[in-house]
Amino acid sequence: MTILVLGGAGYIGSHTVFELIDRGEDVVIIDNLETGHIEAVHPKARFYQGDIRDRAFLDSVFDKEKIDAVIHFAANSLVGESMTNPLKYYDNNLCGTKVLLESMVAHGMDKIVFSSTAATYGEPERIPILESDKTEPTNTYGETKLSMEKMFKWTGLAHGLRYVSLRYFNACGAHKSGEIGEAHTTETHLIPLVLQVPNKQRESVGIYGDDYDTKDGTCIRDYIHVTDLAAAHILAVKYLVEGNESNIFNLGNGIGFTVKEIIEAARKVTGDPIKTVVTPRRAGDPAQLIASSEKARTILGWKPEHTDIEEIIASAWKWHEKHPNGFAK
Ligand code: UDP
Repeated sequence: MTILVLGGAGYIGSHTVFELIDRGEDVVIIDNLETGHIEAVHPKARFYQGDIRDRAFLDSVFDKEKIDAVIHFAANSLVGESMTNPLKYYDNNLCGTKVLLESMVAHGMDKIVFSSTAATYGEPERIPILESDKTEPTNTYGETKLSMEKMFKWTGLAHGLRYVSLRYFNACGAHKSGEIGEAHTTETHLIPLVLQVPNKQRESVGIYGDDYDTKDGTCIRDYIHVTDLAAAHILAVKYLVEGNESNIFNLGNGIGFTVKEIIEAARKVTGDPIKTVVTPRRAGDPAQLIASSEKARTILGWKPEHTDIEEIIASAWKWHEKHPNGFAK
């Protein structure tokens, strides 16, 4: 089977490509390398550098390659940036997906697995969150992902295309080889920022608010290993190839950790005291986000393998310790 991975040079995309190639699949990657890294492109994948908003470019790849299914990661994904530059998110995430769907429909390509997010829910109405719960995003990033889900739905109805939307909770960790991992030019995520302290890249890490209504006052999140996310994408492709209907699944461990618990686990893993400073809350952060992934477990047969938070942080540490500057030399 030939699988096209859009955004295959990015964090979750590259881990999915490694997993697909390990399982003997034929992989084509498209990435514009705006936030992705050429070093993260698997040497056994066929790589095309270009932008999903470029119809002629997509048509040329789809004319050349016989693609059985598409996995779509190509999007901007920083919540803070999406609030200061919303139109960038509408342009890349929504307009990009529109051009992609036009080209897919024109080429008779009818199966797509797509990365969505817990940010589609906004402030949750209950914990754990079910796929059927209300979706009221509190930021532009989540709004564009929700609109992309709707675009797939209506395009699917009109053109017979089927999709699976995977709503991730907090992606983290790195490939077991320690050769690929999380590397953002502007890092905003908790675990990489915490690990910058033992890596001597920052003095301390900020705790964004310690007055939330949680057991220790800090926010609770559901941290899910990137390799488990990769496995879910492959199961979702199989689900579509078997002829099943379009669907939406949450992906999380179903276990919540506070910011302070994450920092404590990182102290144990690294042996570093990791200094912290409590700062004001970050706008738009819900107190608690925990997934119910029962649907993915039952329908896709997905079972996360990495549930121990220290083991997850150790895999991230293996990558960051060896590559303190990400892929930069
Ligand atoms: N967070 C924090 N300090 C940081 C970065 C993040 O306290 O330097 C908190 C943030 O408020 C949230 C949690 O850690 O509650 C996870 O944030 P992250 O940005 O990693 O993921 P998000 O939950 O926003 O997708």
